[in-house]
Amino acid sequence: MLNELIIDPEQGTVDSPLHPSQVRLIPQIPQTLLRLEQLGFGLVIISNQPAAAKGKTTRENLEQAHAAIVEQAQSAGAHILDSYVCFHRAEDHCACRKPGIKLLQRAFSENRDARRDGSWMVGDGITDIEAGQRFGLHTAFIAAHKCDTCQVVQTKAVKEPTLWAKDLAAFTDMLTAKKTWE
Ligand SMILES: [Zn+2]
Repeated sequence: MLNELIIDPEQGTVDSPLHPSQVRLIPQIPQTLLRLEQLGFGLVIISNQPAAAKGKTTRENLEQAHAAIVEQAQSAGAHILDSYVCFHRAEDHCACRKPGIKLLQRAFSENRDARRDGSWMVGDGITDIEAGQRFGLHTAFIAAHKCDTCQVVQTKAVKEPTLWAKDLAAFTDMLTAKKTWE
């Protein structure tokens, strides 16, 4: 959600960056993260990264790619407090992979100022929304078209997210305009 996906034209697959050289941040992300911080939010990344476990790259490459994302994301002055990453595959049945909430639990226990009732889980995957709802957070689904949201909500029988926004900047505009949510 912070970085562009990588398209492999030979395999026809879309993936997160498998190597630090592939990291390209989505435009305006650093400035938007700074705006969120200025609204009073602490910024934490919760990420599923199964590519090394699937044999597509190495764990070292994934960790370096993630470090590059964090570095670029902070380039406008925002602070990423922590990153919590699951490196397993779905078939590993771990507790940390979203929609599991183990990483959210860790994030809130290790960042003691964080309040669950004022916090948001923002993501472009239905597992993000599901994890956020299970943990009692507001949820924002990031998708180019709102119909993308309704389709996944229908197929997965997940509750509607609190908000839908076309990108993180649009989400931040909504938060700026309205300070409280049901
Ligand atoms: Zn895991």
